[in-house]
Amino acid sequence: MDLKPARVRFAPSPTGHMHLGSARTALYNYLLAKKTGGKFILRIEDTDQKRYVPGAEQELIDGLRWLGLEYDEGPDIGGPYGPYRQTDRKAIYDEYIQKLIDKGSAYPCFCTPERLAAVREEQMKNKVQPRYDGHCRGMDPGGAQKRVDSGEKHVIRFRMPKEGKTTVSDHLRGEITVDNTTLDDSVLIKSDGWPTYHFAAMVDDHLMEITHVFRGSEWLGTFPLHANIIRAFGWQEPVWVHLSVFLKPSGKGKMSKREKEDAIKDGYSIFVTGMSELGFIPEGLNNWTALMGWGAGETEDVLTLSEMIDKFDIDKLNASPAAINFARLDHFNGEHIRRLEAWDLAKRIRPYLEREGLVVDEGKLQMIIPIIRERLVTLDDCVPFAAWFFKEVATPPAEELLPKGMAAQQVKQMGAEVLEILKGLPSFSHSTVEEPMRKYIEEKQLSPNQVFGFLRVAISGQKVSPPLFESMEIVGRDTVLARVARAVDSL
Ligand code: GLU
Repeated sequence: MDLKPARVRFAPSPTGHMHLGSARTALYNYLLAKKTGGKFILRIEDTDQKRYVPGAEQELIDGLRWLGLEYDEGPDIGGPYGPYRQTDRKAIYDEYIQKLIDKGSAYPCFCTPERLAAVREEQMKNKVQPRYDGHCRGMDPGGAQKRVDSGEKHVIRFRMPKEGKTTVSDHLRGEITVDNTTLDDSVLIKSDGWPTYHFAAMVDDHLMEITHVFRGSEWLGTFPLHANIIRAFGWQEPVWVHLSVFLKPSGKGKMSKREKEDAIKDGYSIFVTGMSELGFIPEGLNNWTALMGWGAGETEDVLTLSEMIDKFDIDKLNASPAAINFARLDHFNGEHIRRLEAWDLAKRIRPYLEREGLVVDEGKLQMIIPIIRERLVTLDDCVPFAAWFFKEVATPPAEELLPKGMAAQQVKQMGAEVLEILKGLPSFSHSTVEEPMRKYIEEKQLSPNQVFGFLRVAISGQKVSPPLFESMEIVGRDTVLARVARAVDSL
């Protein structure tokens, strides 16, 4: 792989939530920039006014920041190649489309939508691929310019070479050759005066000196058009990398709307937005998306961002579609949670407890971290495991207090005896509690499940909790004794 400093851009359109595929594209851009000591640029492609969603740009910026993918140039931070928002670059597109018209590589087209629809219908009827029929292509440029100057509604089309072939080269797929007769005179400037993606992105990539373009494979169809636009200007092409698509978990097709909704119900999402609320951490998400389409080495590689930078190699990206596998996301998320420093994990889980309305004591939280971290797959798992430490626990109903196969009277007696032992302990820590409890079990020929099960429910109010003795130490002697006594009384 070439290690010259790369200039790469993430160029999303602000048309909705930030998709996982976008997160991966942004990540690969970032990794290549960091790997080569180059620059990572954020460019907002917002010329399609119809699809514009207010707030989406901010969501993208927030998403990148959350993922830890800091960019070097962008609409909110500026940079030497700005502006970085396409709607702020209109004068540039006006200038460059004129250059293309002057070269004879683009021309105004005055065809009405009605005419175009009729042509299309005719083509469909004759089973030929619908495309512009070239009606305005041969018009005298002077005459056309007069009509433009008089304010007549028009678009600007690319004058696609009609003879020969176009060969384009994708870094992952090699060369692709198409007959020019199959290519359309696509619209570069719409009748509202704004450029289409085809034109704006090519101009911007050139002016921003972009060296590598990572984009979705949905652009493969118009790839020859893009190459022809660049060649008409006589510019140098970037390295093109069309990334594989994400498929639904079964691997058959893209996720449908319904499946996306189901994912949310299961605690997952295909959008970056919302992943944090679901308890995922950026380290886990980045690791997961990175390896969907990149053979970094061993399949279950748990990698930090800096390890990814180290290993990143565009020659190792692959073009085959990747099925979304949420179980793998869980895996990476849990692994990265376990690698966090205790203070960092405490800081990250606090909001999940607070959103339950709990008042979280910092000292207690610090003590809880070591006993729950192994069990967390997502950060919000802290709630079922640890919320009870921060609230008053009501005495559970008898049926929950009774271990399987034991009658209330028997449990009552057992509870009273255990309570006496606990009361008599000179000190109260997990180690000083555990030993006498085990001794008691042995003497009475009870099973650990019976005694510990009862204690767990009496103290935490639930059947599942972090390790019992450590939990008892954190809750503290007085609270433990009070809860056990109440449980005994209730039976
Ligand atoms: N705005 C385009 C999109 O969101 C960008 C494609 C590209 O990166 O060139 O699909």
